[in-house]
Amino acid sequence: QQTNECSKNKFTKVTVSVEEFKKNNYPHSSELFKVFRSTFGLRDFRPNQLEAINAAILGHDCFVLMPTGGGKSLCYQLPAVLSNGVTLVISPLKSLVIDQTEKLKSLDIPTAHLLGNMPHQEENIIFTKLCMAEPGLKMLYVTPEKIAASMKLGQILDNLYGRGKLARLVIDEAHCVSHWGHDFRPDYKRLGEFRKKYPNVPIMALTATATPRVRQDILHQLQISGTKLFLSSFNRPNLLYKVVPKKGKSVLAEIANDIKRKYEHQSGIIYCLSRKECDDTAAFMCEQGIKATSYHAGLVDTKRNDVQMKWITNKTNVVCATIAFGMGIDKPDVRFVFHYSLPKSIEGYYQESGRAGRDGKTSHCLLYYNYQDMHRIRKLIELDTSGTAESKKVHVQNLFRIVSYCENKADCRRTLQLNYFGETFNDNQCISNKETACDNCQNKASFKYIDVTEDSIEIVKTIKELCNSSSNWNNNFTLIHLIDIFKGSTNQKIKTNNHDKLSLHGRGKHWDRLDAERLMHKLVLEGYIKEEMVASKLDIINAFVRVGSQGEKLLQGSIKLKLALTSKNKLNIETISKNHFTMVNPVLKEIQERCYENLMEVCRGIAASLN
Ligand code: ADP
Ligand code: MG
Ligand code: ZN
Repeated sequence: QQTNECSKNKFTKVTVSVEEFKKNNYPHSSELFKVFRSTFGLRDFRPNQLEAINAAILGHDCFVLMPTGGGKSLCYQLPAVLSNGVTLVISPLKSLVIDQTEKLKSLDIPTAHLLGNMPHQEENIIFTKLCMAEPGLKMLYVTPEKIAASMKLGQILDNLYGRGKLARLVIDEAHCVSHWGHDFRPDYKRLGEFRKKYPNVPIMALTATATPRVRQDILHQLQISGTKLFLSSFNRPNLLYKVVPKKGKSVLAEIANDIKRKYEHQSGIIYCLSRKECDDTAAFMCEQGIKATSYHAGLVDTKRNDVQMKWITNKTNVVCATIAFGMGIDKPDVRFVFHYSLPKSIEGYYQESGRAGRDGKTSHCLLYYNYQDMHRIRKLIELDTSGTAESKKVHVQNLFRIVSYCENKADCRRTLQLNYFGETFNDNQCISNKETACDNCQNKASFKYIDVTEDSIEIVKTIKELCNSSSNWNNNFTLIHLIDIFKGSTNQKIKTNNHDKLSLHGRGKHWDRLDAERLMHKLVLEGYIKEEMVASKLDIINAFVRVGSQGEKLLQGSIKLKLALTSKNKLNIETISKNHFTMVNPVLKEIQERCYENLMEVCRGIAASLN
């Protein structure tokens, strides 16, 4: 069994604050509830909100980890209203900054933002408000670049601090401080200096990043120790996760039909691998009468902004995009995120699919999977000249993890994702929600585990034999060829190479072809078989089968392998009822009765021979 690198993280050593701040009898409590209800117009706190707010008001440094849509903003906005002075909020994205400022103004909370390209006049109005004896602002949003670039702002912050009017520093999207994160911003790095400059000002960092390594790095980079940590579950209960086989050309037509049937006039994203795939997919969707556009790095900035705006304002419904799309876009009502090609890692998948359903309503995350897409991404990794051997290895590992996620038919999707991030999760929580239970939880009954150790040994032995053979056979064969041998195919390639004489030939002839494929994929993903990427002319890369690094161990017999298989659907004659007959005419009643009896007899016979 593979070990989960992330579950061995050091992160768990940081104490999580839960009960400590779960009180409602602090001196500030009555004011807090009043503002929560009347200013923000809300009724119930979401998990960890009240705790983080209390801790912040009591002056602690806080680190708030909540999934997207969990309600992080309130954790600093409410304390800002109750605090004496100005709360400085660092946020990496202009669009988010503008959104938040507008929203707070509409709630009558004096708020402003400073961005790179603002007219001096407007800036000066804000600076004047900040310099008032009692500052005319409760919250000031800035981008990290602005902090780094504006001397004037620096002076004003010094001045506020000197007067005890700098209430708190908030670092939203704090993962931007980490090199390990997906969105590193150099200017975030300098926020570490804040603590030295303004030692008495409490800091709150917030992020939806799920990886323990990034979380650890954030604490380190910001130099905040003794922090109160608020860690929520990263489960997104309103998202339905499903892996769909991607077979044949008709898949796109199915997707289009699905969109028209289930999500008419609703927003969604279809993630594609290449620019061309984005363009082609969007064109196809348009042909089918769906308002779709393509989005990728090949478009000029203005065009990209235009695509975004039209989508956000619901002038278009579906964006066919590379994974660059969606970062920092805060559209609440995205009803579906489809991956038309394989994501590059589990983390990537969690983030990308997580763009669905931020408003908490049921939304669908479908991953269209075939094994060949793995080869397409491996090819990109191999051809990437900027990558080191080490980084390529990590990329391939990440890729293998998401492929095993897709190949897995037995375990809960949520459990697979959350375990990857070091969180334990009980499947029952997934099954209990009928509308969003994942595909594997819904299909649980139709799978059973079988021992595949002997078959696997036989397969690896055969590979070893073929690769060592000195016959005119060229030793280069693909996984598909191997599956053909296992299934006992007698195609031309098998006959001319005498592979029908191998003892492996036909060993799996009773296997369902899909299951045989899954067995081979499992052997690749767990290192018993290796697919060597060999470049031939015209940058076509072939994947040839070799014995993998774990192959010898398997041959020595110290490993047991199990695979979840589709147990053949048993024919259950009890499910055939008289109601299946549609003849309602009373004259035909007798015939109907007799037909039913005859049918039952035939069914009993078939069932006996099958079961
Ligand atoms: P995050 O930053 O964690 O992704 P936001 O702070 O943007 O999430 O909040 C997501 C949505 O949830 C917003 O529309 C917000 O108004 C709403 N929200 C936050 N807290 C509550 C609450 N206690 N009750 C109801 N809605 C809330
Ligand atoms: Mg947020
Ligand atoms: Zn599940």
